[in-house]
Amino acid sequence: MLALAERLRRAAAAAEAAGLDALVLTPGADLQYLLGLPPDHSSFERLTCLVLRGGGDPVLVVPRLERPGFAGVGLDPLGVEVADWADGEDPYEQVRSLLPASLRSVAVADTMPAVHAHRLGDAMPGARQRLAGPVLRELRMRKDAAEIDALRRAGQAIDRVHARMAELAKPGRTEAEVGAAVAAAIVEEGHSRPAFTIIGSGPNGASPHHEMSQRVIEPGDVVVVDIGGVVAEGYYSDSTRTYCAGGEPAGEVAEVYAVLQEAQRAAVAAVRPGVTAQSVDATARAIIAGAGFGEFFVHRTGHGIGLEVHEEPYIVAGNEQVLEPGMAFSVEPGIYLPGRWGARIEDIVVVTADGCESLNRRPHELVSLR
Ligand code: ZN
Ligand code: ZN
Ligand code: ZN
Repeated sequence: MLALAERLRRAAAAAEAAGLDALVLTPGADLQYLLGLPPDHSSFERLTCLVLRGGGDPVLVVPRLERPGFAGVGLDPLGVEVADWADGEDPYEQVRSLLPASLRSVAVADTMPAVHAHRLGDAMPGARQRLAGPVLRELRMRKDAAEIDALRRAGQAIDRVHARMAELAKPGRTEAEVGAAVAAAIVEEGHSRPAFTIIGSGPNGASPHHEMSQRVIEPGDVVVVDIGGVVAEGYYSDSTRTYCAGGEPAGEVAEVYAVLQEAQRAAVAAVRPGVTAQSVDATARAIIAGAGFGEFFVHRTGHGIGLEVHEEPYIVAGNEQVLEPGMAFSVEPGIYLPGRWGARIEDIVVVTADGCESLNRRPHELVSLR
């Protein structure tokens, strides 16, 4: 409870420091973080939002019919007032009435539905509307011990799913069949739900975000398996391993894969406090480009992870964010040969005092599925 109250206090202070009169946050990762709302809480066409303002208690504006759903959230100890509104009333005017007459700038949650952001804008014609993301990421990208513990348990759970891949992804099954079996295993191994299953066999592995198809996995196929789920506390796992179905891969595969393995290893080794996010990306990219595959590494090296599967800090060229202890992100270079095959290796790491801790521990070698 105290931790949440402290987060609320810091968010309000950060908003003030950014020159904002208020933050208006709809249900999503921001409110999971600040109020401990359960991950399944979402807002629909009726506005639910937390109004954080300088010089006043936070107020949660909720539709009256949804108010009972907040009974178990523990808003009182956090000093959060609840203001409800009934169908037929205007919740946007209600939010406006909570803010000072001199209102100049308001930041809304990055994931606020446009229908709410637009109507809030109409209710505050004199105020500049900005995004709350740049303010909240300063808090959310530095994980505390409890958050790291949840990420660590998520990482161990997804490792147990990868450990079962020979049983789950037999040649002769379709990608969709394998995906369904993997999704079930994600829950069996300790997540509350699966988040995504990418099973890219043969040429499909060359499309980094291919999900699943009716393609039958053939002996000799290289298969990219990128999977993740959500644990009870709302934190994500996300880990990729590349497999070879039913036997040894062709000679070219081992050669290209060795480059990828070296790039991923070197990028993880480059992670420590004081280096920039983009330098980790550059480390992986230099090795892949140096081997002649630069044009086939078509995405950034990684993304932050927490209550969202993709969040700050992004490990990408141009991101000068300096890494600090507690930051958690993926290191996931890939090489994709269009129409043929692809490979990716992905671990989640947490920056420590002098390097990083890898939350995924499965072997990095191309594992044969027999
Ligand atoms: Zn991805
Ligand atoms: Zn992934
Ligand atoms: Zn990822």
